Amino acid sequence: MVGARMTSQQSDYDVIIVGAGPAGTTTAKCLLDQRPETRVLILDKAHQFPRQKPCGGYIGAEIFNAFPYLQGNEAYFVESESNHGILHSPDLRYQVGGRTRMLGVLRETFDAYLVGLAQQAGTQIGTRSRVIDVKSEQHQVKVELSDKRSLTAKVVVGADGAASIVGRRSGLHSGWQSHEICKTVVKEFTVEPEYILDQYGPDRPIHLFLQFNQIPGYAWVFPKAYQINVGLGCFADTPTRLIDYFRLLVRLLKEKEMLPESATLTGVEAGICPTVGPIGTTQRKRILLVGDAAGFVSPSTGAGIVPGMVSGKLAAQTLAEALDHQRFDDAFLHRYQIRWENTIGRFNTELMIQRIFLTRWCNLFIRIGEHDEGIRKFVAATQTKDPRGYYGRETNIFELLLRVFWALIKGPFGRL
Ligand SMILES: Cc1cc2nc3c(=O)[nH]c(=O)nc-3n(C[C@H](O)[C@H](O)[C@H](O)COP(=O)(O)OP(=O)(O)OC[C@H]3O[C@@H](n4cnc5c(N)ncnc54)[C@H](O)[C@@H]3O)c2cc1C
Repeated sequence: MVGARMTSQQSDYDVIIVGAGPAGTTTAKCLLDQRPETRVLILDKAHQFPRQKPCGGYIGAEIFNAFPYLQGNEAYFVESESNHGILHSPDLRYQVGGRTRMLGVLRETFDAYLVGLAQQAGTQIGTRSRVIDVKSEQHQVKVELSDKRSLTAKVVVGADGAASIVGRRSGLHSGWQSHEICKTVVKEFTVEPEYILDQYGPDRPIHLFLQFNQIPGYAWVFPKAYQINVGLGCFADTPTRLIDYFRLLVRLLKEKEMLPESATLTGVEAGICPTVGPIGTTQRKRILLVGDAAGFVSPSTGAGIVPGMVSGKLAAQTLAEALDHQRFDDAFLHRYQIRWENTIGRFNTELMIQRIFLTRWCNLFIRIGEHDEGIRKFVAATQTKDPRGYYGRETNIFELLLRVFWALIKGPFGRL
């Protein structure tokens, strides 16, 4: 049982975080690392942790630069490593690959590990706690739950994912339009580890099939240690039944011997993923949004785990300062917005990459890339690094266009 009210004047908690995904738990841990006396509660509708979450489960190894406390603990949450990424052209005739270092995780394990870190830091976790409303009052925020409980906090963080109720009820976001999100289907196929090693080799390359079967999106194949994660996503306003395309994808992968013949479609899960970058304003009236709730997802790859965690870390810095100064007004909490705009940014480069991946010139782009080292490096960067160079060198779109132009006029053009 969480949340006995202390006095009528005092809020039940300093901070209530709605959602115990990577963004929420990272907010809690980073806040408590900075300010251990803070009273933090995370509420999640899940019945327990570990819990399942539809996901590809691939993260750039650069996560350790942003979160050094994860370094050395890989054994708790890393399933596998991939050292190669391959983009397939829409017509399936061309491929361009690049060296990269990606970590395969199972969300069940990874998220539960992050919950454990938040608890160790001093967070209380309330599971089976579905939040249905948040109301900003003058000195606190009231959080209402589906079981009729209501709790109060000085600040509330909405870390409740892409369909965020906190975002909608706070007025920070009215919800994603169908052209702003991707619908996805995914299945983690359990296979013999020997099969993965035989078919994919020790590098375990990850594969992206751009515009698979002409959908405005892509399909992915992420080989892990005991699983092959296969998924498909496209803009939600596309009138397609994704499961039909998933069936075609599985057939193709069987033909290419990237999935065993025994693989079935049972257990395919669906999810949504924001793909237009962050919302305009992420805080107001003592409420902040982090992670998918605020749109911190790469528009070109759909990767949101690390950007979501980074947004949580930045929110935590602002919350620690707000609690120290007892300042919760919009002007003070705007520090969070300044921090993420300077660190994560609005994914403008990745939005341009998304457009390249979706254009009809995509076949040509991959075809040129087969011959050009610079484009191969770019491919690796698009799959692992965030656009602002948070974990490494910034991907420069103009440099890329110059490379394409250069590759077109130099030798390979004659062979295309
Ligand atoms: C099919 C698919 C594949 C993906 N693949 C990748 C990938 O390979 N790599 C990558 O980096 N990203 C991937 N993503 C994106 C990634 O899953 C998200 O960006 C990431 O999970 C965001 O973390 P979060 O903490 O913001 O939200 P979530 O992980 O969604 O966590 C939100 C939490 O809030 C809880 N919650 C929701 N509503 C309420 C409520 N009303 N009350 C209480 N609790 C609530 C949920 O139970 C959940 O635990 C993928 C997404 C999809 C859909």
